[in-house]
Amino acid sequence: MDEISPQHPRAESLRIRKRIVDGFKLGLVVGEGLAAHGRGEAFDYFLGERTTREARKAIKAAAALLLLAENPVISVNGNAAALVPEEIVELSRATGARIEVNLFHGSRRRERLIARWLRKHGAREVLGVDPRFSTRIPEVHSNRRKVDRRGIAAADVVVVPLEDGDRTEALKKMGKRVIAIDLNPMSRTARAADITIVDNIVRALPLMIDAVRGLSRKSRTELRKIVEDFDNGANLAAALKAMRQRFKQG
Ligand code: ATP
Repeated sequence: MDEISPQHPRAESLRIRKRIVDGFKLGLVVGEGLAAHGRGEAFDYFLGERTTREARKAIKAAAALLLLAENPVISVNGNAAALVPEEIVELSRATGARIEVNLFHGSRRRERLIARWLRKHGAREVLGVDPRFSTRIPEVHSNRRKVDRRGIAAADVVVVPLEDGDRTEALKKMGKRVIAIDLNPMSRTARAADITIVDNIVRALPLMIDAVRGLSRKSRTELRKIVEDFDNGANLAAALKAMRQRFKQG
C-alpha cells in the first residue's frame, strides 16, 4: 500500500486498517477478522474516532477490577494480536494478567503463529497453545470453547477484546467477571459483559495501562467502590446516545 498521507481525513483509521491487513498477510488474521474489523470501523466512525467520556469511565472501572482480580487473563484473538501486541504485553505486566490465545477460526498453526508474535513483542508466557493443558467450556459451540486449564478456565476476571457473544455469555455463566472492548454497544458481548469499553482497542489499551498505573496505589476498598459504582447498562445507553448525537449533527 502507498504511504498514508497525514492530511487524509481518515489517516489514523487507514493506519489501523493497514495493521490488520499486514496481520492478514502474516497469517495472524483470517478473512472473517477483516470483515469484523470493518464492522468495528463503521462503529468507530459513528463515535467520531475518539475515546468518549463513557469509555473513559469504563476503562477506569476495568483497571480497578483487574487490580482486584486474583487470576486475571487477557484473551487474545488474531485481530487483537495484529493491532496491539505490545500493549497486550504491557497490560499483562502491569496487572499480572496471563495472556491466552483463543480463536474462533482456530488452527494449531495460527495459534502458534500468534503466540510467537506475542513473544516477539515481549510476552514471556502465552497460554492456549499447549494441548496438554487444553480443556473445554460448556455451552460454546465454536472452536472458542477450547481454553487453557491454567488460564481462562481458572480465571476470575477475563478481558475479551473483539469477542463473540456466545462465549461472553458462557464465561458469565461460569461465574467469571468479563471486561469487553467492543465498538458496537449493541452487540451481545457488550450487553453480557460486566464492563464494556466502547472504544477502539487501539485507543483503549494504552489508556487502560495508564489507568492501572494510576490506580495501583489505591486500597482494595477504594478499588471495589470504583467497580461497584460502575453501571454497565447505563454506560452502554450513554455510549449509544453519543453515537445518536453524531447522527443528529449530520
Ligand atoms: P456479538 O456476537 O457479540 O453480537 P458480533 O457478531 O458483531 O457480536 P463479531 O463478528 O465477532 O461479533 O465482531 C467483532 C466485534 O468487534 C464487532 O462488534 C466490532 O464492532 C468489534 N470490533 C472490531 N474491530 C474493533 C476494534 N479495533 N476495536 C474494538 N472493537 C472492534
